[in-house]
Amino acid sequence: MKIIAIGRNYPEHARELNNPIPREPVIFLKPDTAILRNKECFYLPDFSTDIHYEAEIVLRIVKEGKHIAEKFAHTYISALTVGIDFTARDLQKQLKEKGLPWELSKAFDHSAPIGEFIEVNKEDDLSAIPFKLAINGITVQTGNTKDMIFSFQALISYISARITLKQGDLIFTGTPAGVGRVYAGDILEGYVKNQKLMHITIA
Ligand code: ZN
Repeated sequence: MKIIAIGRNYPEHARELNNPIPREPVIFLKPDTAILRNKECFYLPDFSTDIHYEAEIVLRIVKEGKHIAEKFAHTYISALTVGIDFTARDLQKQLKEKGLPWELSKAFDHSAPIGEFIEVNKEDDLSAIPFKLAINGITVQTGNTKDMIFSFQALISYISARITLKQGDLIFTGTPAGVGRVYAGDILEGYVKNQKLMHITIA
């Protein structure tokens, strides 16, 4: 399986990092070794002094698809949860300045914690899903999929025109404003519609 992640999909977050609002989705990949299962511990790596959390809705793809039309895209989503796109912001800044790919700052081991998945049904409205991240009990990010620049359906259509989606692939759909650094001892809890789905400890 593969993890496809979307950058700058919420206008307020693009602005907080002084990035332009994209006209097309910004896409990068994480390997399967980036996954960190719910309730596990994330160990701060020694190659960065500025690991940031980015809470995102994560979609799970249920079947193989290529050139998926937007109107059928929802049938490719079997479940969703909240995850973290951990980012070594110091490395990312250096890479961006050099015009280099982001992988070293985004694709490292356990950089993609994911919560417990909840099933998605055909009737579910995916266009207004609230989610949030709390650190040590204090809410630090709140998002709602209605604020996304590119909808889930638009993302699936765009990605699958270029990269075949397969069963079990995950899509990290972008983070809202409020990203920041994590510290040893932090407890990160992710919620979708006030349901707690993710609990990760930083060490
Ligand atoms: Zn992200």
